[in-house]
Amino acid sequence: MIRAKLITGEVVELKKECGCLDEIHSGPHWLHMNDFRRRQNEVAIKSALDRAEKSGDIISIMQARALIHKVSAEEIARLEEKERMMRQAGVEEIIRG
Ligand SMILES: [Zn+2]
Repeated sequence: MIRAKLITGEVVELKKECGCLDEIHSGPHWLHMNDFRRRQNEVAIKSALDRAEKSGDIISIMQARALIHKVSAEEIARLEEKERMMRQAGVEEIIRG
């Protein structure tokens, strides 16, 4: 169950409002998609760093830098979207577990 502390101080459950199966996610769909994007970005950064570390050549390092730069921009966009959705829902803090 995913709960949230609202700006009013009240703690509520963040309910699912989509048709996805319970096995796919709990909580609101926007939060699921935001988590998914975060995991994708983490994987992209990790694999770019691993490749650059393994090969050690300047091209791989430049490619990793370019990818990290691109993913950083995606992370900013993701966090802006999360902030917007939280404000819209009056959520101050998401409480997981
Ligand atoms: Zn969903």
